[in-house]
Amino acid sequence: MADEIKNTDAGYRLSVVVPVFNEEEVLPEFHRRLACVLDKVSAQSEIIYVNDGSVDGSLPEMRRLKTEDERIAIVDLSRNFGKEIAMTAGFDHAHGDAVVVIDADLQDPPELIPEMIKHWRGGYDVVYAQRTSRAGESVVKKTTAHLFYRLMQKLSRVDIPRDAGDFRLLSRRAVDALAGLREQHRFMKGLFAWIGYPQKAIPYQRDSRHDGKSKWNYIGLWNFAIEGITSFSTVPLKAATYLGVLTAFSAFLFGMFIVLQTLFYGNPVPGYPSLLVVVLFLGGIQLMALGVIGEYLGRMFDETKGRPLYLINAYEEAQGKNNHDPEIVRELTSN
Ligand code: UDP
Ligand code: MG
Repeated sequence: MADEIKNTDAGYRLSVVVPVFNEEEVLPEFHRRLACVLDKVSAQSEIIYVNDGSVDGSLPEMRRLKTEDERIAIVDLSRNFGKEIAMTAGFDHAHGDAVVVIDADLQDPPELIPEMIKHWRGGYDVVYAQRTSRAGESVVKKTTAHLFYRLMQKLSRVDIPRDAGDFRLLSRRAVDALAGLREQHRFMKGLFAWIGYPQKAIPYQRDSRHDGKSKWNYIGLWNFAIEGITSFSTVPLKAATYLGVLTAFSAFLFGMFIVLQTLFYGNPVPGYPSLLVVVLFLGGIQLMALGVIGEYLGRMFDETKGRPLYLINAYEEAQGKNNHDPEIVRELTSN
């Protein structure tokens, strides 16, 4: 292949990680566009399709594509683990000096990859795509997403870039850093930001899905938001404390008021409604605070079990003859 000569000259290796969950309709078109881009990039590339327990024809489709394109590797997870873990599994199997993660539904244009590579070669460790528009998404989704990013920015010390999705390129050391974070609750946007290193945003227009439908619904997004907040901030726990202090203080003032009222005006026993209100109010606050503690406790429970993040059903390596030769990797990285 003429490409191979060019690739060797380039001296770097690129891995593209693609989490896939029930995407049989888009896979062929996605692969066509990605392959087109990679053909033009002067890197040895591997494309890692992570099958996240798809129940449609995604896996056979990947296998078919693999027979046509020797750059493809397939990581078949034992069941559906969710996109965050599917990405992690992909990172764990990536051999590249730079690793790109991209959605299979063509909402992230593969055509942006060369620009990402350019910035990576210019010294950035993380090059992420930042949406300037969200075509095909409802006003409600846009607004909630907007609010979420702003809330995160207020609550957490980690500066999570606004309107950036998962579509990004990571340098080898960034991938290694990420690989060291084995927490079960993987709020990827936060983890990407947590590792730090020089980061660069490149603006792009987010397209609507090419085909198939989004796996997200509002309950999912709500849980995702809770995940983000609890993984990166303990502000809710503090808030519970201050809410408690505030209520106790108001109760004290109310108590004073009642004492004075009784002293000056006597007490005709009118207390029932106010009593009920206070009891309910305090009960509500206590339950809420317990709930907040519970959110964190539940996550601690999950982490302490120390389970592996995922299990693999099968790993089918890329066939490209340079792709997995450790000698070559060493040579390239030492240059
Ligand atoms: N995905 C996955 N596992 C899941 C859900 C989604 O690997 O449990 C993949 C999906 O195939 C796609 C990407 O993650 O490549 C983004 O999913 P989706 O388009 O549903 O999310 P959205 O674009 O709406 O954020
Ligand atoms: Mg999508």
